[in-house]
Amino acid sequence: MHIDVVLSAHNMEGPIHEHNEAPDRFEWNGAIAYLDRDGVLNYGSPNYINTPDELVIMPDVKESVQKLRNSGYKIAITTNQSAIMRGLWGEDRIHDIHRKLQQEIGTLDALMTCPHRNRDRCKCRKPQPGMLNMASDLIRGESHSGVNWWKKKPQPIHKLDVMVGDRDSDLGAGWAVGARLFKVNDEIGLPEVIDRIINGEPGDDFNPV
Ligand SMILES: [Zn+2]
Repeated sequence: MHIDVVLSAHNMEGPIHEHNEAPDRFEWNGAIAYLDRDGVLNYGSPNYINTPDELVIMPDVKESVQKLRNSGYKIAITTNQSAIMRGLWGEDRIHDIHRKLQQEIGTLDALMTCPHRNRDRCKCRKPQPGMLNMASDLIRGESHSGVNWWKKKPQPIHKLDVMVGDRDSDLGAGWAVGARLFKVNDEIGLPEVIDRIINGEPGDDFNPV
């Protein structure tokens, strides 16, 4: 059964993670830009992005990511991909898809994938902040511990930390690490909010409860 292959390839405890050393000529400002993948970088699909061919980058996204990088941000993709625990395909496929993603928009510092379904009750499926925290730990050796949705929004590790996503679950995960939040949609995408992000604007209000 396919799921057994998946389970042996990844222990399924936490997110699947890919971590790259920052490419050349980069002056890091200490902040991380957490980006959702589907619907932010590439066109989303109700039936998952199942193959590299199905990954189609949206217009001007590459330039926006370059702007972020040139402004000093490290970049962590955080994506929920429950297709994996549903047994549709395995971890290798995620690496194939992310290889194409980075061929098209450049090398990214961290690519975090939650393979779980809701019923798996993991700590990484957004709105849980597990992927963001692990990315922060990989990139800067520091992360938040836990989340209390009923308290005040926590302080970020760096004041310019930012989360961009198209769903409330993205904003929830960003809220939990104190990041500035920018919600995008079909009309207002990453290219439309990138200047506000880089100018240090506070972003969208969001209440997780
Ligand atoms: Zn998970």
